[in-house]
Amino acid sequence: MKVNIIGGGVAGLAVGIYLQKNGFETEVFEQHTVPGGLCTGWKRGDYTFNGCMHWLLGSGKGIAFNTFWNEILDLSQLEFVLHKERVQFDVPDLTDRHGNSVFHFYNEIDQFEKYMLDIAPEDEKMIRYWMDQVRYVGQYLDCLPPAFYDESFIASTRRNMHLIKLLPMVYFMFKWSKLTNYQFAENFKNPFLRKAITLLYEKEVRMPILFFVQCYANKHVAGYPIGSSLHFAKKLAESYQQHGGKLTLGQCVNSIDIEEGRAVGLRMEDNTQRPCDFVVSAADWRWTIFRALGEKYATKEQMFYKNPPKEAIFYSYCILYLGVDLDLKKYPHFIRYSLENPIFSPDGTSYDRLEVHVYNYDPTLAPEGKVTIAVDFQTREGEFWINLRKNDYPQYVQKKKEFQENILAELEKKMSVLSGHIEVTDLTTPASYHRYTGNTLGSSQGWTPQDNVMKSIPLKPTVKGLDNVFLAGHWLVAGGGLPIALKSARDTAWLLSKKANGKFVV
Ligand SMILES: Cc1cc2nc3c(=O)[nH]c(=O)nc-3n(C[C@H](O)[C@H](O)[C@H](O)COP(=O)(O)OP(=O)(O)OC[C@H]3O[C@@H](n4cnc5c(N)ncnc54)[C@H](O)[C@@H]3O)c2cc1C
Repeated sequence: MKVNIIGGGVAGLAVGIYLQKNGFETEVFEQHTVPGGLCTGWKRGDYTFNGCMHWLLGSGKGIAFNTFWNEILDLSQLEFVLHKERVQFDVPDLTDRHGNSVFHFYNEIDQFEKYMLDIAPEDEKMIRYWMDQVRYVGQYLDCLPPAFYDESFIASTRRNMHLIKLLPMVYFMFKWSKLTNYQFAENFKNPFLRKAITLLYEKEVRMPILFFVQCYANKHVAGYPIGSSLHFAKKLAESYQQHGGKLTLGQCVNSIDIEEGRAVGLRMEDNTQRPCDFVVSAADWRWTIFRALGEKYATKEQMFYKNPPKEAIFYSYCILYLGVDLDLKKYPHFIRYSLENPIFSPDGTSYDRLEVHVYNYDPTLAPEGKVTIAVDFQTREGEFWINLRKNDYPQYVQKKKEFQENILAELEKKMSVLSGHIEVTDLTTPASYHRYTGNTLGSSQGWTPQDNVMKSIPLKPTVKGLDNVFLAGHWLVAGGGLPIALKSARDTAWLLSKKANGKFVV
């Protein structure tokens, strides 16, 4: 049986590998000339820019995501970097009791706890309470997220019994989802620590996100792959082809052909049809439901999101990439600088922090003695950039230039060492992510989890009214990211295999 898969991002390739393992003949159609979708990178002169991940959940053993990745890709082929600190940043106008203005967000919980107890002994109770929550979450990582297996009744009963232990987590999530790090910070007496807790992330985040991220980092299971995101995507594409899958690059799908209530093939841009028995779309969900299927199969809830409120969509990015002829080995890998005067983006967003990634830990990205840097800016104004590029390209280029100049002026105030050493610059915008991957508003991770991290979304892996069309990808679970792309691919492959073959093997 032939399955045509739309999109050669991580989800499309992962679905392809699982289905190849289950005896299907599959073909992935990717519009771009390289696989990976958002999981990408590119070269400018001597420099390679990492366009995506700083951490891959499941890179290390001990959690379910590691098992899933290894089902489709031998992770031992990759080398992962684990950082001692997640980020370090200056706390404006304040110092700790030793006179230091820099706060260290350590990845290991014991080290972080010890550090905070040292700088803010008066907050011992709250510090220990916080770290205890992270340790509590840690107990559940081995069975999260629950997954489908094809196994005997006894084995599946045993697995499900194991899942009962997750019940207290439901209450835990419910309780903590209401609180953000800004609100949590108010419980601390020490002014330096209180302010630092509000600066742990780019923006205000719900506490469960903080706990989970800390917990994964503490367990050493979320590393950065040397070679960067494109290298990772290429390895996945290689694995897909080694499993017998056919990867067709540079081919844009126009629509899904439906006859008598069933998909019969993909209609390509040149109007040819690629026949198949099943379709899996791992492309943008709105494109799939409203363009490829012409709205006919949209549910009422999906219709509501035809023109989604921008808050519902996970941030896109403007990222300024730099190629620098300095090694910067002594710099932290990730620094958050607070700005005295905010930077204004042409899209109207203002920023009072600079998020600076120094890739001094990946020697493959720049020649010896040189380094790449990325300064990123989250934005919800994807539409501004996409429309500007489409309607007035010279103005788009001009606005990018102005924004870049503003960023560089502020950056060089913080890192004066850069002056005269920047050899290459490249600024991406939401229009870049939209153009290369088709994601709504250039979203980097699908839906925003919004005020409730457990909130349901208007999508399922199936399409109402069509029993041989499936969806996969980061739009299937709010919050998105690479692990979600993988997990949704696995769930979709499970569903399709069970339906067609009555079984699923991994
Ligand atoms: C700057 C940045 C940093 C990130 N950092 C991290 C991180 O550290 N950790 C993490 O877990 N996640 C991170 N993410 C998120 C992660 O990259 C995405 O959630 C994930 O890659 C999504 O994969 P996907 O396959 O679901 O979708 P996509 O990558 O969007 O893939 C969809 C594919 O479909 C193709 N396509 C679309 N329409 C068509 C069509 N009509 N015909 C043919 N092909 C089509 C697109 O070209 C694309 O290749 C980051 C994202 C960005 C942008």
